[in-house]
Amino acid sequence: MAAAQARGSARDPRVVIIGAGMSGLLMGIRLKQAGIDDFVILEKAADLGGTWRENTYPGIACDIPSHFYSYSFAPNPGWSHWFAPGGEIKDYFASVAQAHGLPARIRYNSEVAEARRSDGTWRIRCTDGTEMEADMVVAATGVLHHPRMPDIPGLSDFRGACFHSAQWRHDEPLDGRRIGVIGTGSTATQITAALVPRAGQLSLFQRTAQWVFPLPNPEHSRFARWCFRRLPGAGRAWYHLTRLLFQWTFSRAVLGHNLAHRMLAGIARRNLERSVRDPALRERLRPDYEPFCKRLIISPDFYDKIQQPNAELVTAPIERVETEGVRTTDGRLHALDVLVLATGFEAQRYVRPLQLINERDETLEEAWSGGARALRSVAVPGFANFFMVAGPYTPVGNYPLIQTSEIQADYIMAFVERFRNGEASRFEARPEALERFVRDMDAGSERTIWRTGGCQSWYLDERGRISMWPWSFERFRREMRRPQWQEYTVS
Ligand code: NAP
Repeated sequence: MAAAQARGSARDPRVVIIGAGMSGLLMGIRLKQAGIDDFVILEKAADLGGTWRENTYPGIACDIPSHFYSYSFAPNPGWSHWFAPGGEIKDYFASVAQAHGLPARIRYNSEVAEARRSDGTWRIRCTDGTEMEADMVVAATGVLHHPRMPDIPGLSDFRGACFHSAQWRHDEPLDGRRIGVIGTGSTATQITAALVPRAGQLSLFQRTAQWVFPLPNPEHSRFARWCFRRLPGAGRAWYHLTRLLFQWTFSRAVLGHNLAHRMLAGIARRNLERSVRDPALRERLRPDYEPFCKRLIISPDFYDKIQQPNAELVTAPIERVETEGVRTTDGRLHALDVLVLATGFEAQRYVRPLQLINERDETLEEAWSGGARALRSVAVPGFANFFMVAGPYTPVGNYPLIQTSEIQADYIMAFVERFRNGEASRFEARPEALERFVRDMDAGSERTIWRTGGCQSWYLDERGRISMWPWSFERFRREMRRPQWQEYTVS
């Protein structure tokens, strides 16, 4: 990267963005749109796309309508389905990146090992030894990124193929084989629905039952796609319709026992009653907590598929894995050829394991020893000029991350602009502002369904604190419109 340019008293900041997923690309686009060229996106893998590059399991699709799961400035009239398949979403991000001239800015196979701030500069070192300097670092490393491997005895003894859902082994044949899936989250249910028609036998190992919401996933007709292409207003109208629908229904429903919750919870409950014929199976599929406590499963056909003759729901707890398959505590051995671990992600890792070290030689790990916290989700006291997109407290219940990332990227751009205008060169979150923010978040989360719904989920950290935005999306947008500068030390 070039040294910071002098333009009178103004300087273009040198920016390093970590991650070429949805948020990192977005941050790059915002810098480009502002005419700032001195930035690089460091991507640890050989391709862009973040979660959509890593998750390639059979059945993968977005559970947010695709016209809404798009950048607001880059509509895609060509989405094939209401909920597009994962590969299509990854291609969408690649084409937007291309259209904004980002590929030349992305440095692949560049995993950041350490970022250390001294003398007013961030010094970044990648695992391959490459080093660079930056005035600002923006971590866009994703929320659900580090696979969580289950702590099940004997896992390594299994003689068949065993892999995490985010590390799919595409060389492993599936048709006609005995497949086991551990987990019942969004991932496992999509895999189950896709593989039951292909497997000889599919065993789904359920530790906790899930509520399932039956939304169909039709193709957009040729006429609809023609309209989206030829009548830009149609695409915008569809975008805003979905936005309003989400805002007032799925996103509201997590906030408390309101009308949206009663309505949608009722649909999920009726779905179970109507879709599962065998009363014994229905009881085993019935969660003992409230809908929306865990992330609601969106699936039109999970119940249908789990009732097929070659599918089995296993609810006896897993005792261990053996060479031939999974042994449950009732003594049964479930013989398998393939074992899929759809066991979720370490949602509280955020930017770690990268070593972030501040001017006082303090690491982010130390700063977060009491839990990951960030002012307005983007800044950590002690770590000047370091920002995060999709940091702690980001996800707004059931709302697409792409919308919150756009708001956060614009918020971070306000710091970039002040730096560039020569108004200031150092921005640090004030500890007392973070304390106030966290108190607000904790108080707000008390009445959410995540807290009152009676379940465990990845929304809670290891101390049982909720690391989600506990208010409405409108409030998120309002509070993040621009930085409240008194919350920062600016110099
Ligand atoms: P998840 O929701 O965290 O589910 C993990 C599953 O694995 C749970 O059923 C969990 O059981 C089970 N599990 C974990 N450790 C286990 C163990 N040792 N033994 C037995 N079972 C174990 O993970 P996910 O399904 O990958 O989904 C994560 C998030 O990704 C979702 O909530 C959603 O936000 C997102 N996602 C979105 C889409 C989409 O369509 N947009 C698709 C997939 C995922 P317990 O419930 O008992 O802990």
